[in-house]
Parts: sequence; structure tokens; C-alpha cells
Amino acid sequence: MEIITYSILQGKKTSDEYYERIEQFTIDVCDKICSDALHYIHQYRQYVQQSCPEKSMPELIIYLEYLIIGVLWNTYVERAVTLPKLPGRMLHSMVNIRKKRRWKGIMDFFRGILGTVFLSKRSSPHKPSYTLENFIQLNQWLKASGEFRFIVDRLEIWSVFMQTLSAKEVKKLLKDASDLGLWFDTKSEQTLGVYTPNVNQFIKENDKKMIWQEHRIFCTRRRVEYHLNMVGAQIMNKAFREGFLKTKEKRVLLPICMRGKPASECQAKKTHNGFRCTGCTHNCIVHQVTKLGRLHNFKVYIIPHASTAFSNQNVQRGEIGIVGIACVLNLITGGYEAKAIGFEPQCVLLDFCGCQKHWHKKGLMTEINYDVLKKILCY
Ligand code: SF4
Repeated sequence: MEIITYSILQGKKTSDEYYERIEQFTIDVCDKICSDALHYIHQYRQYVQQSCPEKSMPELIIYLEYLIIGVLWNTYVERAVTLPKLPGRMLHSMVNIRKKRRWKGIMDFFRGILGTVFLSKRSSPHKPSYTLENFIQLNQWLKASGEFRFIVDRLEIWSVFMQTLSAKEVKKLLKDASDLGLWFDTKSEQTLGVYTPNVNQFIKENDKKMIWQEHRIFCTRRRVEYHLNMVGAQIMNKAFREGFLKTKEKRVLLPICMRGKPASECQAKKTHNGFRCTGCTHNCIVHQVTKLGRLHNFKVYIIPHASTAFSNQNVQRGEIGIVGIACVLNLITGGYEAKAIGFEPQCVLLDFCGCQKHWHKKGLMTEINYDVLKKILCY
């Protein structure tokens, strides 16, 4: 099996070994955050509970956010500090406009050009210092890229919290988060690197080819971001588990790359919540999951694109539990988005990536660990 960037199968029939490994590694990561940064976590949590309780999250999610700060700071702050204000704002506005489907094509065209010119790595003469201004600038860059939806909303709360700290305290917080990010980079590569063997090669071969293309930032995300999403998915599943189990209705959302036939032949029918499989192909995984859903009373929808997974949804908070199945790089944003809308989310990552839009000329039919999905749904 061709590995494009990542595969949690590692040449085996199932990804069971990955799930054992990620569970232990996530415990190690949380222990490290707990021993190094618990005072920040508690200080921040207390601030949110007092100032904006509606934005509160379980403590485990705050661990994750602190790790996200460290990893994204190390990965993007040098680009971020060179982003001029006006193009940054224009790119961010285009992200919002492209949500309206009829403008998507034209917005993607202009975002491809502006993104290539203003978001690509540009050398900063100095290593950016650990200041609130640079943290805000990092968030502006993440917003302009359009790839960190909902993460930026969470980081904005952190930046408001940092305004209550002295410059010295902000410097220490950001430096400690960055050090944690460096530790995570090394450790995750040792532990999870076997599952992401071709990320660097993919970036090397495709970075230049994708110049002027809107999805360049997404497709050239760093290896550490794959590992961050793997750990993030575990943390989110644990943190949101109780809420999910309490919901009355359960749904499973599958990406189109799991279908057994190309779009022109797939007989799935469009509904308000996504496409519903009609079972035209017996061995199609979507059909298998749909049959399981009939047996155990959950609905299955095929979602054309991660960014449209939750559009047009009017959800009563806490009523619907969803299991989002996605490419590893979409897991954290997807979890936050689902939660923000009012769903109680869980997720399963695709065993490997293969969609035609981002990763493969012809498209590979992707798979998941069926046992993990059943365990999440308690069957
Ligand atoms: S079985 Fe369902 S998802 Fe698979 S190709 Fe047919 S209609 Fe599409």
C-alpha cells in the first residue's frame, strides 16, 4: 500500500498497534504538561471560569491548548511576524466569504495568490521574542491561513488572558510552551514517527508544485502537526466522552474518500445533513457502517468536505453525539467546531490519507479501524 504522508497501519492488516501506542503516549504527554505547566493551566482555567464561563472547557482540553500554543508558536511564529496587516485581514475575510459555496472558486483563486505571497515562510531578521504582540500576530497568521478554524477562537481567549499578566509572565508562559513544543517534537517523532514516514518527502516534492494553490498550507503541514492531531484526538475523545454518552441521538460522519466508487457512480442521496448511502456496492465501507447504524440506531452521513461538515446545522446543545471520521490533520479543528456548534464529539482518524483533492491524483479509497469505531459507539 502506497503511503502518501501517514499510515497508522504500518504495513499491517489493522491499526490496533497504533491505538495501543497512542494511548500510552498521550498519557506521557499529559503527565509532562501536568508536571511542567499545571500552574498556567489552573491560572488560565480560573480566569475563564470567572470572566467568560460559557467558554470553559474540561481541564484536559486546556492541557491540549497549551501544547497547541507551543507547537504552533515553534512552527509558524517566524512567518507570522512578517505578515503585513492588510493582506492578513483580506485573507481572513476571504476565508469567511468562501463559506458561501458560490464564491468558493473565486475566493480560492485569490487566496492561492495572496497566500503564496504573504503566508509562505519569509525570513525574519531576528528570532521573534516571547511577547503578547507576537502571540496576537501568530493568531492573525493562523486566521489568515484559514486552516486553523476554531483553534484561533480558543487562542484568542488565551491572548485576552495574557493581557492580565505582566510582560515578564507572558514571556515565561510562551517560552515554557515553546520548550514543551520542542520536547513534543522530539518525543513524538520517536514514538509516532513510524506512522508519518513520508510527510517530509511529500512536502519536499509538492511545496513548489502547489505554489498559488489555496490548499498549499494544509498539504504542507509539518510532521509535528500530524503528531499533535493524533494526541489531540485522544485527548478530545477522553475529555468529551461523558457528554457523548449522554446524548439521545448518535451520528457518524464519513468523508467522501471512504466511498467504494467514484463520485460519478456513487448512488448516495443528498440530504440536509450530508449524503446518505443507498448501498449500491456491497463491499463499500460506507455501506458496511450504514448497515451497522441500522442495527444499532445511529445515522451515517457522507460529508463532501471537512469545512462543510457542520454547515446549516441547527443543534440543541448536548442532544446529538457525533463521531467524525477524518484525515488526521482535520481532527482538532473538527472537534472544536463540533463542540462550538453544540454537538458532543468523538473522532476516529482515517488509517491513511488519500483524497483526490489533497493527496492523490486518482484518489485512494480510505479505511478506518472498524473495531475502534464500534468501541466508541459502545457496540
Ligand atoms: S455503497 Fe453507498 S457510499 Fe458506497 S458507492 Fe454505493 S451509494 Fe456510494
